Amino acid sequence: MEVVDLPVPQPKPNEAVVQIKAAGVNFIDIYNREGRYKAPLPLVLGQEAAGVVIALGTEVRADENKPAPEHPNAPAVGDRVAYTSVLGAYAEYAAVPIDRLVKIPDGVGDRDAAAAMLQGMTAHYLSHDTYPLKKDDTALIHAAAGGVGLILVQMAHNIGARVIATVSTEEKAQLAKGAGADDVILYTQSDFEADTKRLTTGRGVDVVYDSVGKTTFDKGLNILRPRGMMVLFGGSSGAVAPIDPLLLTQKGSLFLTRPSLTNYIATSQELQTRAAAVFGMIRDGKLKLRIEHVYPLEEAQKAHRDLEGRKTTGKLLLLP
Ligand code: NDP
Repeated sequence: MEVVDLPVPQPKPNEAVVQIKAAGVNFIDIYNREGRYKAPLPLVLGQEAAGVVIALGTEVRADENKPAPEHPNAPAVGDRVAYTSVLGAYAEYAAVPIDRLVKIPDGVGDRDAAAAMLQGMTAHYLSHDTYPLKKDDTALIHAAAGGVGLILVQMAHNIGARVIATVSTEEKAQLAKGAGADDVILYTQSDFEADTKRLTTGRGVDVVYDSVGKTTFDKGLNILRPRGMMVLFGGSSGAVAPIDPLLLTQKGSLFLTRPSLTNYIATSQELQTRAAAVFGMIRDGKLKLRIEHVYPLEEAQKAHRDLEGRKTTGKLLLLP
């Protein structure tokens, strides 16, 4: 990864140019950098940002500054916006398809908006749609002091579910508790399978939200109640090996899903609704974002090293 000067992008007919105020750093950026997720090179990394619209493409504007009426959600020049799942956010300017932009409501700052788009909407779809948590469900959430983790714990807690969280250090355990976890397991020091069975008196949990993957997946299947759901949504420790579907039968007719945010914000309407729900939680004080690690854009390398090295908690931002 290196810093280079590129021209300010010109918008394609369906795009807007955003002057970026803050860009989010996410684990997926590491997969892109490593080549685990392929993208054509050279590549401007980053899939999440907040900023201000400075230009609109020819197809989406009514005049220089205003969107055309057939784009009712579209921002005007000068509006504050945020977006995710479009590559190129580690930059001062980015051209973004207009239907991927969300206006940032009053009461939500640029940094919170940048921090909420990818990890916030991920935690939202996981807890509200993939396995819609109910009051009194029990969920196991791995890496609970991470970016997605801290948000997911808060959402699960707010729904009224019991949260068993795993983290690697005592400091991270305190953060998970502060976010609403009922029990915290230091999975680097004790066996989370045995601990979870004890904490649920042998019943098992309704759902496992697993973003760690390689080192946690197998044991996760052992702590689910019959017909419980394994939601494998990442591989921070590495990819999970292929499994025989019969294993799911043997472990209690389990459900297994491997979801991606892209499929949960596929339509413009779903994107707008989900973003509004997350922004609403922030504005109402129901969701606190922990933005602990803020780096100048030039220090993107350091941000990646810190995130890969398990040194971070909550959100990492780059400021151009
Ligand atoms: P995090 O802030 O959660 O950072 C990753 C965390 O994983 C670390 O802090 C660490 O927590 C834990 N971890 C466990 N083992 C390892 C290891 N060997 N190396 C590094 N970290 C490890 O990152 P994000 O919030 O950005 O992302 C979390 C996960 O969610 C990622 O796997 C990401 O790909 C996935 N994700 C998936 C999405 C989807 O839609 N499918 C969308 C967004 C994110 P600890 O020290 O406590 O173990």
